[in-house]
Amino acid sequence: MRERTPVAYIPDMATPLVLLDVDGVLNPFSRPHRGYRRHRCTPEGITYRLWLNAAHGPLLLDLAEGAGAELAWASFWKGAANEWIAPRVGLPEMPFVPIPRFPGLEEGHSLGAWKARHVAPWTKGRPFVWFEDEPDATVRIAAEKDIGPHLLVAVDSETGLTGDHLDRAADWLAALTR
Ligand SMILES: [Mg+2]
Repeated sequence: MRERTPVAYIPDMATPLVLLDVDGVLNPFSRPHRGYRRHRCTPEGITYRLWLNAAHGPLLLDLAEGAGAELAWASFWKGAANEWIAPRVGLPEMPFVPIPRFPGLEEGHSLGAWKARHVAPWTKGRPFVWFEDEPDATVRIAAEKDIGPHLLVAVDSETGLTGDHLDRAADWLAALTR
């Protein structure tokens, strides 16, 4: 009888998550500084022009590897981030939070709170760091019950992800495992 190669990927539920937003985090809204290039992405035929930095992927991979954490998308790009964003910033294909379409401000939701409401249960009690530019995400995540230890790193959407944000995340993750 031939030996079977195990192929199933079973994530360790205690492994911390590093959650990553795209717009306002990897893609700053103002014309950014050195290292960024303009990209044209067309998911489902809709054109978006983004600033992306190819140095971000390796830095995020270092962060995750150093902390024994798992990277995942927490963005309205959802799975499309794997096709359109990951290869342009040097990230592999990653799991993503299946955030439903934003119902709109008129329904009484805010964008950040909507995201946080769907991010929280997806983490299933695992510790997580979340790089996010929507300020309301912080308020909403603080109100969530049954979530693990977490750090929301508030990113300024005009300038996007910086080394300071990554350092804060690394320090917090290191303290978690001590
Ligand atoms: Mg954003």
